Amino acid sequence: MGEAIKKKLLAERKSLQNQLAVYKSEDPLLDPEQNISNTIDDVITVAEGHDRIVATRLELKQRLVEVNEALRKIEEGGYGVCEKCQGKINKERLEVLPTAKLCLGCETESN
Ligand SMILES: [Zn+2]
Repeated sequence: MGEAIKKKLLAERKSLQNQLAVYKSEDPLLDPEQNISNTIDDVITVAEGHDRIVATRLELKQRLVEVNEALRKIEEGGYGVCEKCQGKINKERLEVLPTAKLCLGCETESN
């Protein structure tokens, strides 16, 4: 399977890792420099910010897992094979979505 896709995955992994690093440092609840405020409004804002950051970080981590899985398959074999029907995943599909685990037929079916 193409080097271009591997490059794309490696670039995405780097970008995800960078984003995760940023989110970690921007989490208001993890920021030791934050001013502790006693007003309810501030507490709510911080809590909401925290929830959103947690959700985003979870999503980034999930994508990172998928990218790593795809890279592992490129190295060990089995990349581009549909997990459901074991058929080959369309190359154009992989170029658009390098972490695709299902072929277009199975993906459409499961929706
Ligand atoms: Zn399939």
